[in-house]
Parts: sequence; C-alpha cells; structure tokens
Amino acid sequence: MFEQLSGKMSGVLDGLSKNGKLSEADVTEAMREVRLAMLEADVALPVVRDFVNKVRERSVGQEVLESVSPGQAVAKIVNDALIDALGGAGAVPLNLSANPPVPVLMVGLQGSGKTTTSGKIALRLSGRENKKVLLASLDVQRPAAQLQLQQLAERVNAKTGRVQALPIISGQSPVQIAKRALETGRLEGYDVVILDTAGRLSIDEALMDEVREIRTLTKPAETLLVVDAMTGQDAVNTAKAFNEAVGITGVVMSRMDGDARGGAALSMKAITGAPIKLTGSGENLEALEEFHPERVAGRILGLGDVAGLVERAAETLDHEEGERVAKKMLAGKFDLDDYVSQIDQINRMGSISGILGMMPGLGKIKDMLGDKELDTSIFKRHKAIISSMTKQERKTPEIIKASRKKRIAAGSGTTVPEINRLLKQFNDMSTMMKRISKMGLGGLMRGMGG
Ligand code: GDP
Repeated sequence: MFEQLSGKMSGVLDGLSKNGKLSEADVTEAMREVRLAMLEADVALPVVRDFVNKVRERSVGQEVLESVSPGQAVAKIVNDALIDALGGAGAVPLNLSANPPVPVLMVGLQGSGKTTTSGKIALRLSGRENKKVLLASLDVQRPAAQLQLQQLAERVNAKTGRVQALPIISGQSPVQIAKRALETGRLEGYDVVILDTAGRLSIDEALMDEVREIRTLTKPAETLLVVDAMTGQDAVNTAKAFNEAVGITGVVMSRMDGDARGGAALSMKAITGAPIKLTGSGENLEALEEFHPERVAGRILGLGDVAGLVERAAETLDHEEGERVAKKMLAGKFDLDDYVSQIDQINRMGSISGILGMMPGLGKIKDMLGDKELDTSIFKRHKAIISSMTKQERKTPEIIKASRKKRIAAGSGTTVPEINRLLKQFNDMSTMMKRISKMGLGGLMRGMGG
C-alpha cells in the first residue's frame, strides 16, 4: 500500500532537503507536488486541501524557513500532518472490556472481506489473548455464508482450540440467531461473540434497518465496518453512510495488500470520524494488523516501519523451527526439507513486497516494481518439485541423477532444467553454509570485510 504516494512524497522531501535554506516559493512548489501526489493516490479532495493548508501554514512560519535545516523541518511537519490525517498517533485498540460474552458486530457490503475478517479477529483474540470466541453468521439470505463461517471457525479452532461456530438452525431470522448466539455465549462461557451480519451489494434501507435492529438488541461493544481498501473513495463513502445510518465504532480496511494508492486510509478519519482499527493484508488468517498512524506515516515518507517488521516477524515466525534449521545450517546438514521450511516461514510473513515496504530505504525497490508483486512463484515451484521427491532424495539430493530428475519433473509438472537450477541453487546454499559453519560467524564477518 501507499507505494505511489510514498515514492512521490519522499521525492518532494528529498528535493527540499538538498536546497539548504528554503524560500516561501520552495515550500509553495513542494506543496503543489504534495497536493498532486495525494490526489493521484485517491485521497479525498477536502482532506488534501486541509492537509496542504496545514503544512503550508506551519512551514512558512519564520522558525522553519530560518532554521538550520529547513528541509528536515518541513519533513517533520509533513510527517505530523500525515499522522493527524491518519487518525493521530497510536493504534486504537478494540474495546472489549464489557462483561463477557462481549458482542462484536461485523457490518459491511458483500465481498468486502467481512467473513474472512471475522475469522482473523477470532484467531487474534483466541490465540494472542487466550479468549474463547463464538462466531455466528446472521446471513440468512445466503445459506453458503453460514457454512463459510462454520468452516472458517473450524480452521481457526484447529490453530487455537478456543473458537466455535454457532450451530446452524435453518429458518431462524437474523434477530433470532443473534439472541441465540448471545444466549449460547452466556451458557457456555464464551468471552466474545462475533456476529457476522449479512452483506448487500450496495447500501439499502432494508440492510440498514436490519443492522440497526440487531445493534439495538445486542448492544455490541464494537460495531466494526469492514471496507475494501481497493475501492478507494467508495470505501470512504460506504463508511460515511454506515456511520450515519447505524453508527460504527471502528473501521477494518481489508485488501491493503492490493491497494497501492492508500487514499481511502488517508481520508477515512477526516470524512467519517471513525478510526481505522485494523487492516487486512492477505487472504490467510494471520494477515490482520493493528493500524498505527505514526508507522504508516513513516512508510509513506519512505522511513520504513521497523517496529512493524519486528512485530510481524515475532508473531508469524516459528522460533523453535527457526532454531532447529539454524542449527542444521551451522552443522552443515541443511537439506531440502529444511529449505521448504524456510520458504514456509517467509510466506507466513505475508507478501514479499509488503515486507520490503517496511524496510527503511527499500521502499525504492518497491517503486521499481510498480504495482507488481515480487515474483514469488519460484518458491511455489520449488515446493512442488521438492514434494515430488522421495524422502531419501530430500535428505541426500546428490543421488538425484537423470532418471530421477525425469520422474520428479513429471510428478511436479516442471522440467528437468528447472530441477537442475533448484539443485544448483541448493548446492550453492549448502556450500555457503558449510563455509560459514567452518569459519564460525566471526570468521564470516572478517571474510566479508576483507
Ligand atoms: P464478505 O462477503 O464480506 O464476507 O467477504 P469474504 O470474507 O467472503 O471475502 C471475499 C474475498 O476476499 C475472499 O476470497 C477473501 O479471501 C478475500 N479477502 C478478504 N480479506 C482480504 C485481504 O485482506 N486481502 C486479500 N488479498 N484478500 C482478502
């Protein structure tokens, strides 16, 4: 997300910092570029106007133009104004402090990612926060919706063992299901009951009435609106309409992984008054993040988001597995199974270009990629190849000769040259690791220095 905007904004600020002493004309020119960059990123016009005015006012103040490094002073002002637009410093946490079972109402249009997000929130609450979570689908229009939520609950439960779906009873109305969910929550000692309401293709009165009725009945601690970040301004308009009609306590923006522009995120707070509390960045259940305006501002300005990166790694990586593999590497015993385990760990961290965007200075690489995702299909093919090998072959790849290669290529739908490349790459990796293990890590550092 924010690739385009980030590229342009850091360009403008780089230009300013080279200038030494700034004139008012420099600031005006910079603000003209910032304005264009924000409009191109699909930020709502009133938000852009307000932003640019704020920055200009503060920048042309005597202190800035006369300060030692005016460029940096302006960068700081832009950074602060971005944080304001994004909702102010610090993530706004979910408020689940009511007496259990705490109802959480999920609302939004069809296809916004509402059901997936319900599953992601259930995983987060049941895993990290050890809560017992009940998921209930109030969508009686589409029987498939209830089944989808049930399957999702099963997947989450397989990970944490603390999540169930409310059993489906056909013929009940949304209000009856909501009542039954809260009752079950009470009787069976759930901490949180997530109510996934029916979506519609567009906003209509019937939908709003239904949501309002359920809201009055269940008095949710949170009414979370899920919107698709890729729909840009529409996401903001949807949020405005929902907030005016039923009242929401927060926004979850899904598909941030697909939205290179990020305008919706920058307009949301100012236009709707509702804070973005969480963002979704992928289809897998772990891909849910808290929304930290100061970190997002850092990413837009190309400063990276080291705090976010470290957090993501700590959450998603399997440390025992990492240590096991590291030991094998250092012992020079790394095999193809270990390689697959490494691929899985990288994949679990989410999209590669998403990770790049969090690294200071690497945002530039992302600019070169444009809207394209880094090509990670190679990992998928490597996994396919390796899973077509026998156990013996994975442990001792040197036994893989011509006839085995043919068999593996046929089994994995790849070609012999591809298998050769994988084996060569693996061989290079192993040689490197053996060298490292012989030198010890200190030796490696010396080796690289000299
Ligand atoms: P609902 O109709 O609002 O309940 O939407 P769903 O939860 O069924 O999601 C619709 C599709 O969007 C599914 O294929 C999801 O896997 C996908 N999806 C949901 N959230 C995200 C996200 O954050 N990123 C991406 N890339 N896909 C998502």
